[in-house]
Amino acid sequence: MAYAYDDQNIFAKILRGEIPNDTVYESAHCLAFKDISPQAPVHVLVIPKGAYVSYDHFAAEASDAEIADFSRAIGEVCRICGLNGAGGEGGFRVISNAGPHGAQEVPHLHMHVLGGRPLGGLLA
Ligand code: 5GP
Repeated sequence: MAYAYDDQNIFAKILRGEIPNDTVYESAHCLAFKDISPQAPVHVLVIPKGAYVSYDHFAAEASDAEIADFSRAIGEVCRICGLNGAGGEGGFRVISNAGPHGAQEVPHLHMHVLGGRPLGGLLA
């Protein structure tokens, strides 16, 4: 399957420095920044620097180094933002919307990292 990437999407512009962002974490292959319209006290978007539309695109075409870096970046954001995982107080949610059924607005892969309050049931 061929994935079409629109390099005029807003996150591509953020990566090129054309639009400012509130960076939380940056690594060789990833950028993490605060969502402009936060849905929780912590709402950070983690994106790969590569041109990937969605997680399936990323998993199909990214290098092992990019995939490892992305996974680690999500964990680093949780740690930096003080979100504890299983076994601690608090916790977090990681979501990636893809395509029309996933209600994806920005066609550049991103993981939403949400936390800082009880988030309710997944489909609530
Ligand atoms: P999606 O629906 O694609 O999963 O989520 C896109 C997210 O990007 C939304 O939560 C929206 O608030 C966020 N967003 C859209 N434009 C900008 C922007 O220019 N800067 C930042 N930081 N976030 C944005």
